[in-house]
Amino acid sequence: MAIDQYPEISENQNLRKLHTFGLDFRCRYFTEVNSISELQSALTFAKESSHPFLILGGGSNLLPTKDFEGLVIRIANHGIALLEETSDTVRIGVQAGENWHQLVMQCLENGWFGIENMSLIPGSVGAAPMQNIGAYGVEVKQVIEQVHYYDLEKKEMKILTNAECRFGYRESIFKQELKDKAVIWQVDFRLSKQPSAKMEYGDIKAVLDGKGILQPSPKDVSDAVIHIRQSKLPDPAEIGNAGSFFKNPVVSVSVYDSIKQNHPEALSYPAGDGLVKIPAGWLIEKAGWKGKTIGNYGVHARQALVLVNYGGAKGSDIYQLAKDIQKDVLMKFGVELQMEVNLI
Ligand SMILES: Cc1cc2nc3c(=O)[nH]c(=O)nc-3n(C[C@H](O)[C@H](O)[C@H](O)COP(=O)(O)OP(=O)(O)OC[C@H]3O[C@@H](n4cnc5c(N)ncnc54)[C@H](O)[C@@H]3O)c2cc1C
Repeated sequence: MAIDQYPEISENQNLRKLHTFGLDFRCRYFTEVNSISELQSALTFAKESSHPFLILGGGSNLLPTKDFEGLVIRIANHGIALLEETSDTVRIGVQAGENWHQLVMQCLENGWFGIENMSLIPGSVGAAPMQNIGAYGVEVKQVIEQVHYYDLEKKEMKILTNAECRFGYRESIFKQELKDKAVIWQVDFRLSKQPSAKMEYGDIKAVLDGKGILQPSPKDVSDAVIHIRQSKLPDPAEIGNAGSFFKNPVVSVSVYDSIKQNHPEALSYPAGDGLVKIPAGWLIEKAGWKGKTIGNYGVHARQALVLVNYGGAKGSDIYQLAKDIQKDVLMKFGVELQMEVNLI
């Protein structure tokens, strides 16, 4: 397969600036696609040249542990369309390559509400349904009406309704049955035109009270979320990271009770069916990893759930650190931590 038949495909590219861990990460081939025909052409190249391919959005939920000997396809389609408007709601269709935070800002400007608690989550709109992104008491499943995807086996566009996406905590069908079988191309959201502020979760209310805002607008909530996130989480532009490295584990009440015997202050949140969710950051901190630095990488000093690259680290070292943390937390608390970040 002659690469010169594909002028849009470049060779041997370093993707350090195209993911948030800031690691040196090379791929054999790279391309950006704006249309389904460009996607199909890239997939044809990968198939005919017998190379694997990797779909890339904003690169904010990835840990590259080695170079990729295949084709990286970056989803770069753009557009936000108003599909339907009622007196109370709007339905919008958003292309997968749109930036998530920019979408939140644009919706606030237009008076379309429901996603403001998820302000400042990095990444693309197309990746949002993958792990059902969420923050400050809201998950994206609450506003997704349907997801349009390109079926890599049937080679055609398909649509899944919200229920068919089987969303769960940082889960969806796209991480299970449709893993490596679907390229999300457009997400349709149903948003409200009625302002309402959700501020029960985290420090949102305290921040708003501190500013003397008693009847906050969705924009006030967004500003508070941005303020809290900037004070707690490292900015990937300064310190490489992929946000929460692990999911919060869901355990039986008996496991939680045994942890509480030694740590009466241990927090938990109901997770249904007699299960509870324990903050993974708390377990990692109590196991003694918070702020631990090994050369040029480590565990962030303010948020134990975030593994960081201080510059020049190797993905394989960060992966080893993650495995060491998993082993230690299992030994000390009997709890298995699952990685939220996608390994390459
Ligand atoms: C500082 C920081 C804070 C974060 N905070 C949060 C948070 O509060 N809540 C939260 O839920 N997440 C959070 N994250 C994680 C991350 O932002 C989200 O998971 C985001 O949705 C990833 O989007 P992306 O476009 O960067 O995906 P990528 O990292 O590019 O890809 C992630 C996975 O999805 C696949 N993928 C990407 N696009 C598509 C597509 N169009 N079709 C099919 N597969 C695709 C990739 O192959 C990969 O497996 C945070 C990350 C950082 C760095």
